[in-house]
Amino acid sequence: MILVAGCWAGSVGGRRSRTDGQVRFGGRTRGAAFGAVLRALVRGLLLPLAALGLVNGAEAADPQPWHERSLVGLEVGPTGSQFGGDPADEVYASRFDGREIARQTKACGGEYLVIWARDGDWAYYDSQLQPKCPGLGKRDVLREAVAEGHRLGLAVIAYAVQQYPTHTLKAHPEWRAVDQAGQPINHLVCFRSGYLDYMKAMLDEMLTYGIDGFHLDMVDQGFGPPHGCWCARCRAQFEQRHGRPMPPGITWDEGWDAMLEFRYEASDRFEQALTAHVRRGNPRVTVDFNYHGNPPFSWEVGQLPVRHAQNGDFVTGETGVWGFSALTVGLNAEFYRAATPGRPFQVAMQRGVRMYHDQTTRPLNDLRWELFTLLAHGAFVTMIDKTGFDGWLDPVAYERFGACFDEVRAKRAHFGQAPVQDVGIYYSARTRDWVGRDRPAEYFMALQGAHKAMAYAHVPWGVVHAGNVTLAALRRHAVLLLPNVGILSPGEVALFRSYLESGGNIIATGLSGACDGMGRPQSNGALESLAGVRLVRTLASTDNWVRLPGAEDRADDRLAAMGTGVRSDWPFLVRGPAAVIEPTTAQVWGELLAPHRTRLHAEGRYNADWPMSADQPVGPAIALNPVGRGWFLTLAASPDRATSSDHHIVEARRLLVNAVRALHPNPRLRIDAPANVEAVVTDDPVRRILRVHLLGYNPPPQTTPPKDRPYALPVPIEDAPMYRATLRCREAVLEAGAVNPRTRITAEAGRVDLVIEDIHEVICLRY
Ligand SMILES: [Zn+2]
Repeated sequence: MILVAGCWAGSVGGRRSRTDGQVRFGGRTRGAAFGAVLRALVRGLLLPLAALGLVNGAEAADPQPWHERSLVGLEVGPTGSQFGGDPADEVYASRFDGREIARQTKACGGEYLVIWARDGDWAYYDSQLQPKCPGLGKRDVLREAVAEGHRLGLAVIAYAVQQYPTHTLKAHPEWRAVDQAGQPINHLVCFRSGYLDYMKAMLDEMLTYGIDGFHLDMVDQGFGPPHGCWCARCRAQFEQRHGRPMPPGITWDEGWDAMLEFRYEASDRFEQALTAHVRRGNPRVTVDFNYHGNPPFSWEVGQLPVRHAQNGDFVTGETGVWGFSALTVGLNAEFYRAATPGRPFQVAMQRGVRMYHDQTTRPLNDLRWELFTLLAHGAFVTMIDKTGFDGWLDPVAYERFGACFDEVRAKRAHFGQAPVQDVGIYYSARTRDWVGRDRPAEYFMALQGAHKAMAYAHVPWGVVHAGNVTLAALRRHAVLLLPNVGILSPGEVALFRSYLESGGNIIATGLSGACDGMGRPQSNGALESLAGVRLVRTLASTDNWVRLPGAEDRADDRLAAMGTGVRSDWPFLVRGPAAVIEPTTAQVWGELLAPHRTRLHAEGRYNADWPMSADQPVGPAIALNPVGRGWFLTLAASPDRATSSDHHIVEARRLLVNAVRALHPNPRLRIDAPANVEAVVTDDPVRRILRVHLLGYNPPPQTTPPKDRPYALPVPIEDAPMYRATLRCREAVLEAGAVNPRTRITAEAGRVDLVIEDIHEVICLRY
């Protein structure tokens, strides 16, 4: 029998009264874990969470800088110059009005405004360096925005393009980047050129306006060929710095290693010089750079995941279904968080159905899903609006921003807590560069597949960067997952050993540790001593198969869990790289099977993208080795890569999830929900509240695209899903509450059952 202890509903304030803040409690008086609920009932279980400070915390006057106190703001810029502006287009930006934009930002509940002040063609303020677009006449959008924004209590941040300065490069062709053949690259600037001083002068102009910050966009070095920079300045500096001439091109040797560092340093120095310059001009003005250290960006953009996230006051990254996939909304946020531990981080999303500047407006629920996914993952969020060609503001977009931001305000107290992340997913920039080389997606897909497997299974996860990894960072996770991390240094392996010896657990897939520092295959896998296996060879095929024995054949209780939800004695495709291993000290279980190969394969006439059926076993599938108080589990195949592949099957994904559950069988919280629901868990150890954010992703089916069939983009979400979820908590829960009053919540011994009908819900568990 389930006893629903009570229900309470009340307004939680906010500018508009909403129901989102209403709270009710479910309790159960039977069972050990919920025994304490009875005490809570006696004390008055029907106390609103608001009274406990769980909803809509007081917003007292706060001396914090804007980026530490804000959750949501707008970035507004005009549509029409993104492919090049023409002075004859006098209508362009003629209604782009800083005052009106500030008023609309305030009216919809934005806490700050990022206003476009400079793009590649135009300035939107009275600049001595770059022409103002003619449609503005005598108006100065930056001055308007600062005056009205400050009157309304908004922080006002100036947006300024760094890379792609079309106008500037016409005036200063000597600042263009140069390719390896010595030809200038017309659209790219050399960050070691006189452009740095030019940008300092431009930022000085904007500093006189009394702005609160700079958002400096696109310090990239291009997103593909042609690559720079082989200009005379760079060549001379390279020789001085590295004592050797520049490599003649992309040589993937020691010379290119030095060149990669030289390129990273160019971006780094440019960003640091601008930050220091603004600090000298006005130390209260923030600086943030739009960051490109995360997948799908690789070495070509000239940024490293950790190093280039440090410049400025906080890192800013972008998301968007159009560019980074639906599921990667959360991955990007956690990537930025891990790159800058303990600091605020900003993620920009946009209102268009397809992409920036397309003048479409997504349905409210689609905006809500992305916005609350980002907030749940700890980001503060900038909503990007591109105005009409003349600067017109779409009223429907602002109505939807208002609905979104009202909900943020009502739920404010539920964001910003410490994440609970059972699994740390490891990311190695060295592997990105030297294994990925010119096909970095092959590496990214292992990371993305590992993330997808954890997200679908509601295993709380986070990102661990090789660039700032410490033992303390590893120990925040019960399990460290190495998704095909090909290059692991002796220092990293030593750190892993310490982590294992102190009770940590590691899962390594596919070719983890199988490459030397330059990404070349090495016979002695770097992880062999921890894994208790010897690397015999790597398979040339990626259509590899795994077959698990029946549970009665298991060598270890932990290994029994590996077969959950997977039929035994049945080969299943695990699409991705695989290694033939043999045990030294590890126990092994299951078989890795190579695929059939045909005469067509031998003659190179078989479609290499198409898998072939399973042939004979070539080695074990799973190896489990104790190290100190921890365990190292090797998966010879790549269920991570398989999960992000075109041939994703559920069983391959389960293999990875089962591995986590085998090593961490008793997590603090176990969440069961449909695979289209994402869960984010946070902890408030002072108030002793676990929060479970549940995000229902619910797009309807899509039709075929006009090109590149069958690669369809997801459809925007229109309807909130309705689904069941169950939370099982290891510790005693005193109270359980849902924010949405429509959520049905019941509790009994150790579990909370939910029926949710919304895009975003927060379940609070007081322990
Ligand atoms: Zn150069």
